Amino acid sequence: MKVIVFVAHPDDEVLGMGGTILKHSQKGDFVKVVYLATGITSRRSTNFQNSVSYEQNENKINEMQKEIKDLRKNAKKSCDILKVKDSKFYDFPDNEMDSVPLLKIIKVIEKEIKETKPDRIYTHHFHDLNIDHRTVFNAVLTATRPMGLNVKEIISFEVPSSTEWNYPVQFNPNYFVEIKSQLSAKIKAMEAYKNEIRDFPHPRSVENLKNVSERWGAVSGNKAAEAFEIIRKIE
Ligand SMILES: [Zn+2]
Repeated sequence: MKVIVFVAHPDDEVLGMGGTILKHSQKGDFVKVVYLATGITSRRSTNFQNSVSYEQNENKINEMQKEIKDLRKNAKKSCDILKVKDSKFYDFPDNEMDSVPLLKIIKVIEKEIKETKPDRIYTHHFHDLNIDHRTVFNAVLTATRPMGLNVKEIISFEVPSSTEWNYPVQFNPNYFVEIKSQLSAKIKAMEAYKNEIRDFPHPRSVENLKNVSERWGAVSGNKAAEAFEIIRKIE
């Protein structure tokens, strides 16, 4: 099976489905992760604090470029842990993907689909607090409308620290993947993102990732699981 995972930010793929990615890899499936936004906002300053101002100077721009480079290095390490076969980084603006004409994002997604011809696509969930996550979902759904590119399965995952904070409509999974043997690698893959991981009780902490996997495990009769919503399946 060929799989593309379309995410907005480096680390979304691990948070949402790191165990499932490794499970695909272990089965011999081809997995490509496509990162659409940089993952570093122009408002983020040194020490990873968000500033209220957009003001830029040369130092700040250089620093941001360095942060983007470091983040991509970490993403590659993380992909290696999950045995991902291919990855690609785009430069859409972080936390501002809604400022880009949707068609531009759709074109990139269409190009990736034409190149890889995936049987299955994983992407964000529409009811997510993060604007980039919602934008990527919209672009994927438009790019894969039936009659065009022939993708049989579209599946959404959650991203702890944004999907669960949406209101009033929430992630409502109907597909579960057991990940007991993959959980420790998922944690390691998240630890590779050393600037994104946080201490408990932050949702992006090791403890919470374990808790989430146990929660979906309990929902699906397993010790550990990841949860998904099937958006479309054509047989
Ligand atoms: Zn994200």
